[in-house]
Amino acid sequence: MNKPDQIKTQDRPASLYAKREPVFNRRIDGKFRRLKWAIMVICLAIYWGTPWLRWDRGPYAPDQAVLVDLAHRRFYMFGIEIWPHEFYFVAGLLIMAGIGLFLVTSAVGRAWCGYACPQTVWTDLFQHVDRFFDGDRNARFRLYKAPWGPAKIARRLAKWTVYLAISFATGGAWIFYFADAPTLQHAFWTGTADPVAYATVAVLTATTFVLGGFMREQVCVYMCPWPRIQTAMLDEKSLIVTYKDWRGEPRGSVKKAGKNPDRFGDCIDCNQCVAVCPTGIDIREGPQIGCITCALCIDACDRVMGETGRPRGLIDYATLEDAEREKAGQPPTRHLKLIWRPRTMLYFAVWGGIGLSLLFLLGTRVHTDLTVAKDRNPPYILLSDGSVRNAYTLRLRNMQGRPRKMEISIEGLPGAKIWSDDVGMAEAGTALTRIVPADETQSLRAYLVVPAGTPAQEFTFHLQALGEAREQDSAEAQFDAPGEQ
Ligand code: SF4
Ligand code: SF4
Repeated sequence: MNKPDQIKTQDRPASLYAKREPVFNRRIDGKFRRLKWAIMVICLAIYWGTPWLRWDRGPYAPDQAVLVDLAHRRFYMFGIEIWPHEFYFVAGLLIMAGIGLFLVTSAVGRAWCGYACPQTVWTDLFQHVDRFFDGDRNARFRLYKAPWGPAKIARRLAKWTVYLAISFATGGAWIFYFADAPTLQHAFWTGTADPVAYATVAVLTATTFVLGGFMREQVCVYMCPWPRIQTAMLDEKSLIVTYKDWRGEPRGSVKKAGKNPDRFGDCIDCNQCVAVCPTGIDIREGPQIGCITCALCIDACDRVMGETGRPRGLIDYATLEDAEREKAGQPPTRHLKLIWRPRTMLYFAVWGGIGLSLLFLLGTRVHTDLTVAKDRNPPYILLSDGSVRNAYTLRLRNMQGRPRKMEISIEGLPGAKIWSDDVGMAEAGTALTRIVPADETQSLRAYLVVPAGTPAQEFTFHLQALGEAREQDSAEAQFDAPGEQ
C-alpha cells in the first residue's frame, strides 16, 4: 500500500484545466434559426443605429435621441431628460430589467441566453463569418486540422481581419452613446477626440475580438454567472429544450430500426442535434449548463424526423412536468397555461407595478426644482435694530430647454423679507425673481431678515416658474433666532 506522500502518478487527479475543444457547428435552417436571425438583426440594428437617431430639443439641448451626457450629468432618451437628482428613473429601469429577466427565465427558461444576450448575438455573427471564409462544419474541421501553410494563413488573416472590423465597429459604436455621434465621429477620425474615447474603443474592440471571436461558448460555460443564477430559478414548470428520451431511446439507425421497429426508439443517432449546437453539447445527455436554449437542435432534429417520416418534436421545448406527463402518455399542458402561473404572474405584477409607477412619476414630474442649504456658522446674525438675519444657498433648476423667469417667495415666516447679493438689503421684499437659463442650475445666495422677537421656526421656500401653474417646487428650511432653539 502506498504511503500518503507516495501517491503514484496514475493516482493523481486529472488536471482541473480542460483544453478547449473548438466547436464547428453546422448551418441549419428552421423556425428557431429564423427567429434567431430576426432577433440578431433587431439587436444589432438597435445597438449600431440608436446613437444616430436625432431628436429636436431646441437650441439649448443636444439633438441626439439617446445620449448619456456624462459631462453635463444628463441622460436623454427621446423626449425624456433625466437629471442626476432623478436617478431613481434609471434605477427603476434597471430594476425592471432585472425582474424582466426573472420573469422571462421562470416562463421560458434561458431564452435571454439563447436569443438576445450580446455574447450569443456576437458569437453567432462570428460563426457566420467562419462559414463565409472556411465553409460549413466539415470544411472548417479539415482546415483546423490542416498544417499551417500559405492558404491557411491567408484564410485565417482574412477571417481575423473581418473579426477585427466587427469588433472595432462594436467598440466604436459604444462611445457614440456618450457624445453627439456625428461630431464625435468627425473628431475620432481626425485624431482630435478625447483620449478616453480612443481607450474605450480599444478596450471594447479587444474584448469583442477575444470573447466573440475565440472564447465563445466558454464565456457562457465558465465566465458568466447568469447561467448559474438561472439554473436556480428554473422549476419543473419552466420551458427548456428537452430530448424526449422515452420516445427516442434506444437509439438505432434507420436501417436497424427498419429491420426491427419494435426494438428501437425514434432517435436514429445521426448526431445532427450535436452538429448544429453552438456550444457543442449533446442535449440527449439531459439538461446541462452549456445549453443556452437556442433551439437549433430542435430545428435539426425536426428536419431529421421529417425526412425519416417520424413525428417531429423528439427534441422540443418542454417543461420537466410535461416531460413526465408525456412519458405517462398524457397530453402536454398548453404553453400559455405554463407561462401564466402564480410565480410568473407575481414577477409580472412587480415588473408592471414598477413600470406604472415610473410612468406616473414621469407624467407628473415638473421641470422646476429647488434645493436649499442653510449657513450653519453663524446660525443667525443679530442686526443693530434687533432684527435677525439668516443666510442660505439656493439652487434653482430649470429643466426645460428655454430660459424661464422664476420667483422665490417665503411661506410660513411672518414678516420675513428676502434679498440676495446683487439686490441689496435696502431693496429686500417678500419675493425675488430670477431668469434661470435653459437647462441649467443656478446658484443663489439669499438672505432673510425677520423683525426682532421672531422665534426660531421652520418655514418654506417656494419656487414658481412665472405664468406656469404646474411648474413649482418648494423646500423646507430652518430659521434660527436668539432664544430657545
Ligand atoms: S437529431 Fe434527433 S434523431 Fe438525430 S441524433 Fe439528435 S435526437 Fe437523434
Ligand atoms: S443543446 Fe440545443 S438548445 Fe442547447 S445550446 Fe445546443 S443547440 Fe442550443
